[in-house]
Amino acid sequence: MAYYEDIVYDVNGKVKCGLCNAGIINSSHSIEIHLNEKTHKHLYIKRLMVQNSIWLNGSQKHCVLCNINFETNLQSHIDSFSHQNVTKKVKSLVEKDGSWLELPHFISDKGAIHCLICNKFIEYSSQSVEDHLKTTHHRRARAIVLQHYNGIFSIEGSNEDLWCKICRVCLDNYIEVIFEHVEKKEHSRNLQKIKRLIEGQSIDIETFLTDPIEDKAYCNKCDTKVSCNVDNLERHIKGKMHNKEEKSNSN
Ligand SMILES: [Zn+2]
Ligand SMILES: [Zn+2]
Ligand SMILES: [Zn+2]
Ligand SMILES: [Zn+2]
Ligand SMILES: [Zn+2]
Repeated sequence: MAYYEDIVYDVNGKVKCGLCNAGIINSSHSIEIHLNEKTHKHLYIKRLMVQNSIWLNGSQKHCVLCNINFETNLQSHIDSFSHQNVTKKVKSLVEKDGSWLELPHFISDKGAIHCLICNKFIEYSSQSVEDHLKTTHHRRARAIVLQHYNGIFSIEGSNEDLWCKICRVCLDNYIEVIFEHVEKKEHSRNLQKIKRLIEGQSIDIETFLTDPIEDKAYCNKCDTKVSCNVDNLERHIKGKMHNKEEKSNSN
């Protein structure tokens, strides 16, 4: 079992096994020996099981994803159609939701999925993922993150209304309304237009998107604020000031 993915070279050219966190002499022979060492193989299998939600159950192995015990070879179960199928299902659920769930990857993850926005650990099974995505807590957390990336704010002094800076419209403060609004063609088109305009122009809209009272983008090149809408940004980017050659570049 020779897997080279864990062999890393640090800045000084020293070789290390990232999985075992152990230094190795820099020769292909030593690397080969390390990859075949018992301790390395043991950790490798342990991680493979964590990544696939498989646990030892006495002499048997238990796959949480497939909800079965099996005695066959670990890799052949992982490669099996049914196991691949559930894995795909979970991954597509997570992706559709916005990829806020982190599937277990390291041994230290102990086979649990981490929800980054709820900061909660859940079992790596398709049922618990489905259940978690439906909870009000998760949906609320997702709505808040969505707001953050979409320039949507609560209106000061009101719990009932939200304001979308991008589209300049009021929205009712319901999770469903937020989800619906950010998926609307008009909203994403408006946001994409702005993002495309400022690409490579060293114009920053982070504060505009996250600070309720900021209505301007910041141009790092000109050290000035620009009203954050398509017309003004376009005018600024095509304008004299923004297109002036930097002194250090001109001969
Ligand atoms: Zn190793
Ligand atoms: Zn399985
Ligand atoms: Zn969550
Ligand atoms: Zn909008
Ligand atoms: Zn500028």
